Amino acid sequence: MTSSSPAATVVACPICRTPVEWGAHSPYRPFCSERCKLIDLGQWAEERYRVAASGDEPPSEGPDTH
Ligand SMILES: [Zn+2]
Repeated sequence: MTSSSPAATVVACPICRTPVEWGAHSPYRPFCSERCKLIDLGQWAEERYRVAASGDEPPSEGPDTH
């Protein structure tokens, strides 16, 4: 008999390119580890921060509450 076991899907970690098996035992997929996940989140936050920093003025659209 030929046991046709389904090949595990492997993705490359977007941060360090480490092959990550796409399964329940890879809670941080597509990242290889929590560290890489946090790095990715950090990059997003950084981009957001840059965008926010470009507009230095806060949207002050409200009644004058002095
Ligand atoms: Zn990684």
